[in-house]
Amino acid sequence: MELKIHNNLTRKKESFSPIEDGKVKFYSCGPTTYDFLHVGNARALVVGDLFHRVFKALGYQVTFVRNYTDVDDKIIQRAQELKVDPLDHAQRFVDECRKDMDSLGMLPATHTPKVSETMPEIIKMIEDIISNGAGYVVEGEVFFHVEKADHYGKLSKKDLEGLQHGQRVEVDSRKKHPADFVLWKPAKVGEPFWESPWGKGRPGWHIECSAMAKKFLGETLDLHHGGVDLMFPHHENEIAQSEAANKKTFCNCWAHNEFLNFGSEKMSKSLGNVVTIRKFIEKYSGQVLRQLLISVHYRARIDWTDEAIERAIQDVTRIHQFALEIKTLKTNPDVKVDPDVESICKKFIEEFNNELKSDFNSAGALGVFFAFIRDARRDLFIKDLSIGSVAFIQSAVDHANLALGHVHKDPQSMLDLLQNLKGSGDVDEAWIQDLIEQRREAKSSKNWARADEIRDELKAKNIALVDNKDGTVGWKML
Ligand code: AMP
Ligand code: ZN
Repeated sequence: MELKIHNNLTRKKESFSPIEDGKVKFYSCGPTTYDFLHVGNARALVVGDLFHRVFKALGYQVTFVRNYTDVDDKIIQRAQELKVDPLDHAQRFVDECRKDMDSLGMLPATHTPKVSETMPEIIKMIEDIISNGAGYVVEGEVFFHVEKADHYGKLSKKDLEGLQHGQRVEVDSRKKHPADFVLWKPAKVGEPFWESPWGKGRPGWHIECSAMAKKFLGETLDLHHGGVDLMFPHHENEIAQSEAANKKTFCNCWAHNEFLNFGSEKMSKSLGNVVTIRKFIEKYSGQVLRQLLISVHYRARIDWTDEAIERAIQDVTRIHQFALEIKTLKTNPDVKVDPDVESICKKFIEEFNNELKSDFNSAGALGVFFAFIRDARRDLFIKDLSIGSVAFIQSAVDHANLALGHVHKDPQSMLDLLQNLKGSGDVDEAWIQDLIEQRREAKSSKNWARADEIRDELKAKNIALVDNKDGTVGWKML
């Protein structure tokens, strides 16, 4: 079976055929480093890591680029509030992000460029866009002219006419078309700047990825990934810029992960409904978060619920118990490699790979892995096994682990942590529901003091009440 990926350029699942046989040029849009990242951002990071791992597990040679946006309005604004240097502030959160990625068991990308280190390439690309007639300069600001792009809107399926009329905010009168976007902007007083042919300034957001992709991967990529919110305008603009500058197809395949939602909305800083990666993994571990994120296909939405967390804890426990069982299997030097072991392991790897080849179906692959755990316990662990047979089982698990990154290097310490978690997380659902009902009654009789008292009583047990839009009340562990 060949690898197939859902390509958002065509909206079809297609056979993946890289430009060079066996080699993959892969780019994923990385985070803006102005604060701690939330578990929604973790989804984009873990999906990028999943693609990287699956390529490796399937034997491809991958060059994987994931950037850090360390020059950006949000960073400058936050640094000004904190009265610190914007680049120092951004670097602080690059370092924090790296710690989170390590905890999530992510493999290092091949290149992790920052905007601040890519200025010559960014400026050169803007110059190329202007000289090819797709960029124009107004008062030290450079714009991309979307009407000069080759099929602007081909990824997001928008057309220029719709974009002309669909603008909700007042359009900058200096633009030739309302959808034109900034490539370079002049720095305001006190803002960081770089020298350029258009004066002191800094790049617009989109151009960085075009320049970084070209610097490390060349003019045409095999795969580009990001969250679904990046498809328009960010990725559309990356295509327009790169193709205007290079006169080559920018990328053959585009994949986008769906959102992680909290309640009915996307988890996002601007909505204020975030759980940071750091806070979550301090209590539950990076493995639990990774498991929660990969247990759903990347193109399906994830709802952040207590049940999802509980399920991930159970899955991680199951996987680590199995890892430990293999480590402690007793071998018999007098028996030969058992053909059953070989065939069960081979069948497992084939079915597991087939799931991953089907548009990186990590949920399906996990299902195959859990079936393997069941079969191995039932049919293999009851036998006298040779050292060779155990090595076979271990290498099958190692393969799954390379692709999904879900086994911690020390299974016993992981199990200890999960055990403690269960102890501290044990809650009496009936008791909570009773208090929720009492609070509802208190509120309906306008006894606000009692209602607040109940909320505080639950809070003392690390339980927060969640008032849902439909009037019902849920709860979550703090
Ligand atoms: P940002 O720092 O906001 O540019 O986001 C970095 C990455 O995280 C992008 O690829 C976003 O698409 C992704 N992202 C942000 N919020 C979510 C979410 N709630 N669910 C999934 N991905 C997200
Ligand atoms: Zn990008």
